[in-house]
Amino acid sequence: MSTVSALLRSDLRDFGGYRSARSDKLDGDIWLNANESPWANPGTPASDLRRYPSPQPQQLRDVLAGLYLVTPEQVLAGRGSDEAIDLLQRAFCMPGQDRIVIAPPVFGMYAVCARLHGTAVIEVPLVDGAAGLNADLDAMVDAVIANDARLLFLCSPGNPSGEALSLDAIAVVAERLRNRAVVVVDEAYAEFSEQPSATALLDAHDNLAILRTLSKAHALAAARIGCVIGSVEMIDALRRCQAPYPIPQPCADVACEALSGSALEVTRQRVREICSERAVVAVAMVGLPGVRRVYASQGNFLLARFDDAEVAFQRLLQAGVVVRDMRSQPQLGDALRITIGSPEQNLRVLEVLAQAQVEAA
Ligand SMILES: *Cc1c(COP(=O)(O)O)cnc(C)c1O
Repeated sequence: MSTVSALLRSDLRDFGGYRSARSDKLDGDIWLNANESPWANPGTPASDLRRYPSPQPQQLRDVLAGLYLVTPEQVLAGRGSDEAIDLLQRAFCMPGQDRIVIAPPVFGMYAVCARLHGTAVIEVPLVDGAAGLNADLDAMVDAVIANDARLLFLCSPGNPSGEALSLDAIAVVAERLRNRAVVVVDEAYAEFSEQPSATALLDAHDNLAILRTLSKAHALAAARIGCVIGSVEMIDALRRCQAPYPIPQPCADVACEALSGSALEVTRQRVREICSERAVVAVAMVGLPGVRRVYASQGNFLLARFDDAEVAFQRLLQAGVVVRDMRSQPQLGDALRITIGSPEQNLRVLEVLAQAQVEAA
């Protein structure tokens, strides 16, 4: 049995979704089927945006498939990976009835979408040990089974933990949950990690859904483009739950440009630069008095604990540096998350932190 036939919401089995004017296979040279204007907007005559875009612009899908080494039919593009998180819950969780499992502290959108959708959230906290803030995968699988949850969210590399899961570990989880739950692997920071993408496991595990985004390594957060990668059957099912025209045409065009030859090369070079800066900043921070712990990170950020996180946060702010205050998160009452910036920006962070701890002492 496939994952979709086992786990798709029973009330959506025969649901076709919205039939948009672009999804019919019709052809002609005078298009009068979508109530569009016959003229371009007079303010933007050069970029003719009067037509509804394709629900899944083929060029974008092809480019994303090439980037992630899968087939276009395994890719569903959407408004950031945030939309994919929402679609997965819509497709697999009956509102007011089904459950998801997450490992806090973790990216907030899993729980936000659950709240909006009426899905209960089962929490299996990360374990803080010598190796870092780690997901307890056995406990997560047990929680899925005990609660009959439909979705398990793994964030790898983890935001904010920085932990990257091995493919072997993800494969064990997917196998144990075969026909029981969809295992979502959020790879928003995969470009900064040494671990290979879980897409390598898709052929053997059709209950995997992998999230990728152009918002972080590819520097296109404002274009709002991300995708979910899964079995062809899963992608078809998710597409039927999606808004009719999720990708604005200008954003699709920009993304295709940004993922072409020379731009992609520069992006890859910059990712390597962020990774080497990450190592430099981590070593420097560990040496600062008042810094309790800097977690190893495979993302483009560092999570650190401070003797006095308030002082560190305020001094950074006074110097014009805004970092993420993590203190409201479970287990992180003394922690800040600092994005790795340019070498000059990172130097500034280190100078301010060194100064802050001198003053606090
Ligand atoms: C930033 C982030 C996202 C959101 O990505 P968008 O594609 O911009 O929606 C998803 N997951 C994690 C873990 C993130 O940190």
